Amino acid sequence: MSTRITLNSPVTDLYGIGPEAAKKLARLEVSTIYDLISMLPRRYNDWSNISSIDSCEDGMPISFMATITSSPVQKGFKRQSPVAFFVSDGSGRIELSFFNSPYIVNKYQVGDRVFVHGIVSYYGMHPQIVNPFCEKALSIEDIRLVRPVYSLTAGITSNMLSKWIGTALKLVGDLLPDVIPPELAIKENLCSSKEAYQFVHFPESVTQAQLGRRRIAFEELILLGIGMKYFMQGKSSDEVAPVVIPPQGGLPESAAQRWKTVTSNLGFKLTGDQKKAIADIQHDLMKSTPMNRLVQGDVGSGKTAVAVLSMAMTAIMGKQAVLLAPTSVLAKQHYDSAKALLQGSGINVALLLGKTKASLKREIKENLLTNEASVIIGTHAVLSDDVKFNDLGLVIADEQHRFGVKQREKLLISRDGSDGINSVHNLVMTATPIPRTLAMVIYGDMATSVIREKPAGRKEIKTHFLPYTEGDDIYNVLIAKLRRGEQAYIVCPRIDDDSDGLDSDELLFEGFGEEIASTDMVSVKEMKRRLDERGISNEYETEVLYGSMKETTKLEVMERFLSGETKVLISTTVIEVGVNNPNATMMIIMNAERFGLSTLHQLRGRIGRGDKQSYCVLCSDAKTENALERMKLMCECSDGFDLAGKDLELRGPGDFFGTRQHGIPSLRAANLFTDAPLAKIACDEVNKVLAVGGDSANRLMNNIEKLFKLRFEDKMGKL
Ligand code: ADP
Ligand code: MG
Repeated sequence: MSTRITLNSPVTDLYGIGPEAAKKLARLEVSTIYDLISMLPRRYNDWSNISSIDSCEDGMPISFMATITSSPVQKGFKRQSPVAFFVSDGSGRIELSFFNSPYIVNKYQVGDRVFVHGIVSYYGMHPQIVNPFCEKALSIEDIRLVRPVYSLTAGITSNMLSKWIGTALKLVGDLLPDVIPPELAIKENLCSSKEAYQFVHFPESVTQAQLGRRRIAFEELILLGIGMKYFMQGKSSDEVAPVVIPPQGGLPESAAQRWKTVTSNLGFKLTGDQKKAIADIQHDLMKSTPMNRLVQGDVGSGKTAVAVLSMAMTAIMGKQAVLLAPTSVLAKQHYDSAKALLQGSGINVALLLGKTKASLKREIKENLLTNEASVIIGTHAVLSDDVKFNDLGLVIADEQHRFGVKQREKLLISRDGSDGINSVHNLVMTATPIPRTLAMVIYGDMATSVIREKPAGRKEIKTHFLPYTEGDDIYNVLIAKLRRGEQAYIVCPRIDDDSDGLDSDELLFEGFGEEIASTDMVSVKEMKRRLDERGISNEYETEVLYGSMKETTKLEVMERFLSGETKVLISTTVIEVGVNNPNATMMIIMNAERFGLSTLHQLRGRIGRGDKQSYCVLCSDAKTENALERMKLMCECSDGFDLAGKDLELRGPGDFFGTRQHGIPSLRAANLFTDAPLAKIACDEVNKVLAVGGDSANRLMNNIEKLFKLRFEDKMGKL
């Protein structure tokens, strides 16, 4: 065996892992030795409560040592008949029965000592255990009584993982970089990194496993709190952004005039929170320190107006501003509202999408270079290297959780520095109600503006749950709305029936695997057929929309829905983010169990955007507790911040913050919500060491960088 295995080596360097196994491991996102070691058990089977056979009760788990008292025999003549034998421990005897395991006949003999764990079931008067865990052992000391349970994939068992991890730990355990300052380790009573992994993978008790997990949690929090700041956000103290607004002396007359034109285009009064956010931004734009601000506002709170007004400010002062949207549909919509708002102000707006025709792209790029266009709205196409600006001042990312961390890093790249200016002002808008402590960890020193106030005149959306996915009620509520000239969305979890059909554009919520299997999903195309068959499509224009449609077709479909021509839009979650049609007052979500709370809330946020009463209908035939609980929460709670809070209360880091979809690296040991205070303790301690400087600081920073790379590099892109 090679002695040169490092944490970074591919798993195939480990004895026993061939290309086939490696392929399977890749499905678990394990490709290096470090990945292997750091994949933590999902939970543990704790068999350490040893009892005697005479204490067994029907339906209860039991663990005991015993001696085999009868030869294993097949009971019955069918191939699938079980093999069974008796064991006894002096207090009583019990039958062990194994299905689909003919090899058992040759594996055990009368007189063998075995450890047994399983669930007791009574067969008449006779206790038995079906498919128990049974292992030959001379004494209980030879048995691992606390057994890790890993997330598995076909062809990989927990036993295989245990074996590989054990070998790997022996080889590279001492190479694990130590990112915990000694002071912190003492204060928090933390074990070493190697011990920690030993404890979580091979615990002698559940308490010991928790001890290990705690150390790893601290490591993760440090990686997140320190690593993200230094290695991803690429921030340094010598960044200089252009001063957009003169801090003294007020605006020139012409600028004030143009600003007036823009605000009078608004057509509504800004809410107090919107005004406050704009004032915060205005303040930031008066400085040469780059703005680093997060605008948090529930869906429908009016973040777009805040964004467009900030861009207008920037453009009026002669600088350029970019607004990045996660989808082209959304970019187009922002473009339309920006154009309306900036009308008459002399500000030119450009739209740049991946699908924009080459000739037009060339023209737009030209206009950006000359500052002919000072407000640019687009998708990630704007981030491509050949798009250059004349005098970029502000970059806004809308619903940035869709961008992922890699792209967020790119948003910060901005100016060449030839004029002493090497950075721009950054604004991020999100509908995710991230708790403050958590935002601190993830965004570091990002300032926050919160928009809680809803625009005046909004009615609370009424949410109902229907425990089925087919039936007259669904169509009756729909028709009632349509008759009043209002419009509706119907969201389905997939595109068509025969393929997986999951929409490429979307991040369907993960982690509900069992439920998915148990329910038939209604597809977009199936829903269209149903409306056709019921004659609804005859009376009301009905269209479908999903991510894999041609970009231009998508935009046309959206256009017709926004103009009111199309009455019912059947779609996947492509419409989840940001789409704004105030005349749409009904949102029907099929197989609602298929979506996480945050997605459901985002979807619901598509309605209730005007002054009419809106309804959200959740249809689901799922019966699991988890699903029903989510539906109940949705019906009770219409405010995103409250919803997140309740979810947090009920289930800890509930699905509201499914971290993947928010571009936050997923953590294995730490709990971002309950552990946020620990994160502060940990990062403060690291910063103390760094502040002192010298060898210890260098060593610590090196180790943090090393571990950060092992853990997150190359994985960020996938977020
Ligand atoms: P989100 O915060 O979800 O991005 P939007 O910016 O799309 O919300 O705004 C939702 C709707 O509310 C839009 O139709 C917008 O024109 C309208 N709106 C925004 N601010 C106000 C306000 N202060 N008063 C009335 N309507 C507003
Ligand atoms: Mg929005």
